Amino acid sequence: MTTGNGILFVLTGASGVGKGTVRKTAVADLGDVHFSVSATTRARRAHEVDGVHYHFVDANAFQALLAEGALLEHAEYVGDRYGTPAGPVDEALAQGRDVILEIELDGARQVKARRPEAVMLFLAPPSLAELERRLRGRGTDSEEKIQRRLARAREELKALREFDYMIVNDRVPDAVLAFQSVIRAERLRAARLSDAFVVALQRAT
Ligand code: 5GP
Repeated sequence: MTTGNGILFVLTGASGVGKGTVRKTAVADLGDVHFSVSATTRARRAHEVDGVHYHFVDANAFQALLAEGALLEHAEYVGDRYGTPAGPVDEALAQGRDVILEIELDGARQVKARRPEAVMLFLAPPSLAELERRLRGRGTDSEEKIQRRLARAREELKALREFDYMIVNDRVPDAVLAFQSVIRAERLRAARLSDAFVVALQRAT
């Protein structure tokens, strides 16, 4: 409506903290928001659909994407590689659609460096013990991977203050409301208004 450009939101938080659940529920009544589908070398989990949850690629294909400069950011996470294809993100933003990246800390930092205007959100677990319980409950990872994911979560928590917003995912409905509030508030920033919109408004008043 006002700027022509969409807003880039980066949602970071430990594996198992509930980023996907919070994001999916939050965007259901936020209008047209583009979710960026990442490329990964990780094996597909039973419920995951190629092209919907991730683009599942092998190590060579991932390397090729990287060499082509097709990734906005990329990172290694617990033995696998993950990256955000830049093309669909830029297309959506140019169409005025808001975009959400759900990525880990290294990638989030790369995005912030390349796109300083990105809005950075951190989703934290109520405690590390609760995170461990959620990771185990998911039943998708080996004990070794759970331990590595928890170690990574501990590291990521230390970076909390690098973010614009921090939401604790204790009760999902509360976290959803908080996430929606951030998106709605960011959409209302006067600094995002295009000159054309301001001129039209001034003429009309
Ligand atoms: P999972 O294997 O649980 O799906 O994801 C592991 C971690 O990688 C999660 O923190 C997830 O948000 C993150 N991740 C998913 N896609 C990307 C991506 O494209 N780039 C980066 N840097 N991290 C990602």
